[in-house]
Amino acid sequence: MPSDRKRDYYEVLGVTRSANDDDLKKAYRRLAIQFHPDRNPGDKEAEEKFKELNEAYQILSDPERRSQYDRFGHAAFQGPQGAGGFGGFDFTQGFEEVFSDIFGDFFGTGRGRSRSRSRRGDDLRYDLEVEFEEAARGTEKVVKFQRLTTCEACNGSRARGGSEGARTCPNCRGTGQVRTQQGFFSIATTCGQCRGEGMIIADPCPKCQGQGRVRKPVSLSVKIPPGVDNGSRLKLRNEGEAGFGGGPNGDLYVVVHVKEHALFVRQDNDVVIEVPVSFPQAALGAEIEVPTLEGKIKLKVPAGTQAGKVLRLKGKGFIDLHGYGRGDQLVRIVVETPRRLTARQREVLEEFAKLSGEDVNHPMAKGFVDKLKEMFG
Ligand SMILES: [Zn+2]
Ligand SMILES: [Zn+2]
Repeated sequence: MPSDRKRDYYEVLGVTRSANDDDLKKAYRRLAIQFHPDRNPGDKEAEEKFKELNEAYQILSDPERRSQYDRFGHAAFQGPQGAGGFGGFDFTQGFEEVFSDIFGDFFGTGRGRSRSRSRRGDDLRYDLEVEFEEAARGTEKVVKFQRLTTCEACNGSRARGGSEGARTCPNCRGTGQVRTQQGFFSIATTCGQCRGEGMIIADPCPKCQGQGRVRKPVSLSVKIPPGVDNGSRLKLRNEGEAGFGGGPNGDLYVVVHVKEHALFVRQDNDVVIEVPVSFPQAALGAEIEVPTLEGKIKLKVPAGTQAGKVLRLKGKGFIDLHGYGRGDQLVRIVVETPRRLTARQREVLEEFAKLSGEDVNHPMAKGFVDKLKEMFG
């Protein structure tokens, strides 16, 4: 699914942001009939519209996802990196579920209804802040959060004492759907007695109130590889919310936020630092101490170094997250002009200026004066 020019979900459904569930369902039903592939065989555009519509409806019909979308837009589900994609929602999985609810066999998928009752757990996102140096060296962090976990008391069956406590719904005979003929299609609606579950739980598990899952605190140790950048996303498979009715767990995405550093700035895999030197140091050359990601080192500043000169320390940058070597450290020299001069300093400096004459020691200045003459004659 192209994530650039993605249309607004409300726009896709043609509803306002204040649309209620009923409005959404109506708009969805109308457009789904219009763009359904069976009605538009071979029409690629209709197919794309249909997919887009389905995605929009899945997000907006889920109150939690809708509020995420309202706050963060598409970014709530996709993230900027695209690395692996925020594959949080398997848009094909809930697909038939959503549709069968409205259209029933219109789609003729022939999939067993029991399949749709098991659901993959939701993905979770954890925002983790790390220090600049931790991002460089890699670290291990313990993250703590709450997630839905399969209830141990009923083993997820939702019935007291396990699955023996559940019986097949007599109203729909376990299909979860009740069918009525309307015009040329058979409309299947969700069974009211079992709410589409196909099972009746006469005696719900007291531990999870018949939900099959309970919210529990977890703490996980997460390895942060060296080289992670601001916005890097680490996927921890199966560490999201527990699946429903035997479905697989969701995944956990740890989104890394790297704190700013007082001295270093990252540029791709390079580390940039500005280092002040005095005017005499720049003119005479000097050996200065420079901090790196791995501690201080000595750096030789050659005689005659100009302000703004960048000295490169090979291999002192960030390790590439994808294994493409390592960046450098770039040291930008800032020549500090003395602010307050003693009388003696001033005297010496004035003498220095006299000794310097006009052009001899200032090739840049000479070039500048020449250009000035060219411009104004
Ligand atoms: Zn339970
Ligand atoms: Zn039923």
